[in-house]
Amino acid sequence: SLPVVALVGRPNVGKSTLFNRLTRSRAALVADRPGLTRDRHYGRGRTGEIPYIVIDTGGFEPVAKQGIEVEMARQARQAVLEADVVLFIVDGRQGLTAHDREIAVELRRNARRIILAVNKAEGMQREAVAAEFHELGLGDPLAISAAHGDGVRELAELALAPY
Ligand code: GDP
Ligand code: MG
Repeated sequence: SLPVVALVGRPNVGKSTLFNRLTRSRAALVADRPGLTRDRHYGRGRTGEIPYIVIDTGGFEPVAKQGIEVEMARQARQAVLEADVVLFIVDGRQGLTAHDREIAVELRRNARRIILAVNKAEGMQREAVAAEFHELGLGDPLAISAAHGDGVRELAELALAPY
């Protein structure tokens, strides 16, 4: 079966934009409004000769609240459990947040493999971006721009390297 890559991160960091790039589609809903992607969303990507499944997720809330948010969190957790590798997406412009730290804790418990990607890094100093997110303890973050495509290919190659 194909390797499964899940895109996880708090709302509005650019998961769906990355999903569209990886799958070369406009299928995922991209919006300025956080939390628009309501559930898991599957697509197919290919890097070099390696095909894979991508799951876009929305609403990853480590501390579940009510109603729709609980369901969204459940879906995101399920995606993490299904994934061979989780791409943990954070926002280089907003910087590290408490919510990022909570997600990191949850991922460390449940994900098989985690790659940290700092999105929206176009025009930013890679070293500065990497330094800020190092404290998550997830290794060297990869600076990317899902909107511009910078670093996306490297990210996919890194994620699929074992396959
Ligand atoms: P999601 O909620 O994590 O799925 O985030 P979206 O993909 O819907 O993107 C949220 C917002 O961030 C949208 O306005 C995107 O256009 C914007 N965005 C996504 N990727 C980038 C990027 O690489 N650079 C910048 N500057 N904005 C981005
Ligand atoms: Mg989305």
